[in-house]
Amino acid sequence: MPLSEKINLFGKSLPELEEIALNFGERKFRGKQLYEWLYNKKVLNLEECSNLPKSFINQLNNNYMIHHPEVIKVLTDPEDGTQKYLLKLEDDKLIEAVLMNYSFGNSVCLSTQVGCAMGCTFCASGKNGKDRNLTAEEIAGQIIAIENYSGKQISNIVLMGMGEPLDNFDNVLKFIKLANQNLNIGQRHITLSTCGLVDKIKALADEKLQINLAISLHSPFQNKREEILPIAKRYNIDQLINASKEYFNKTGRRVTYEYTVIPDFNNSEADALELKKLIGNIPHHINLIPLNPVTKEVKPSRDNVKLFAEILNKQGLISTIRRKNGKNIEAACGQLRNQELEI
Ligand code: SAH
Repeated sequence: MPLSEKINLFGKSLPELEEIALNFGERKFRGKQLYEWLYNKKVLNLEECSNLPKSFINQLNNNYMIHHPEVIKVLTDPEDGTQKYLLKLEDDKLIEAVLMNYSFGNSVCLSTQVGCAMGCTFCASGKNGKDRNLTAEEIAGQIIAIENYSGKQISNIVLMGMGEPLDNFDNVLKFIKLANQNLNIGQRHITLSTCGLVDKIKALADEKLQINLAISLHSPFQNKREEILPIAKRYNIDQLINASKEYFNKTGRRVTYEYTVIPDFNNSEADALELKKLIGNIPHHINLIPLNPVTKEVKPSRDNVKLFAEILNKQGLISTIRRKNGKNIEAACGQLRNQELEI
């Protein structure tokens, strides 16, 4: 069977693997052994599964394979060790992921789509629109590729790479379950970031998971959100805040509001006052992100970010400034892939 027609074993559940073993005339426990190789030892090919009979491996090889995204290029920031990965999928499409080292453990920022359909004006990922959704296995496979390359164990996941996770709802949900159940990553260690697909935020709340939700707010004003986030024309800001309240009420997880500080656009006292009206009396946490310029025209905004944090603080709003990981390696999502594809 040509490689491209073989079925990926990575992503299969324990009952599915047990069934595969039984179908090949093997005992059921061989499925459990395979499960351990795939998700605990995280092997890259079947030959490494040393306690499986050679005959079983040969049979598996005829129809199945273990496939993960392939590491094409890695940039390492000499200051903080952040690594940016360019990864190639089975159909040669390119995606990006980032490995960050924190005191609490290693965290990865994963892509959920090839490209992005959301078209946020300041973001590199959506420059050429969406190509396709990633499967749950492709999202999880980024973890395995990075762990294998770096030798580091990953304990935290943020879905903040290329793509809009809630525009790939079913696969992302499947991924969360795969990461949680098979790769043993706690739901509270997973954060999903969205630019505001209100219907899907509500659907996610109904799943009653324990994952963290981050909402890309970027402005408390409807008209300004519309200027930079096309999705704001579909769902207005009150609908968005109500959905975030619903998420908190149904899951008990405090919502984070992401706020990319764009100088002279969203960092004034008036912005802070409006933010206070909007989220001041609900459990909140504002994560301020320094703008990572993707076009030459836009200026970086490190000092503006600190200043705005102080303005927010005066209004009693709780904010932190996102540590700028990998500032020496173009870590804004989509930039490395765009360079490679010359977009
Ligand atoms: N589609 C999801 C995940 C995107 S990336 C979302 O929109 O939330 C995570 C965060 O980085 C989002 O808040 C996004 O708006 C922000 N972001 C994207 N490009 C950026 C850039 N060039 N500079 C600063 N923040 C950026």
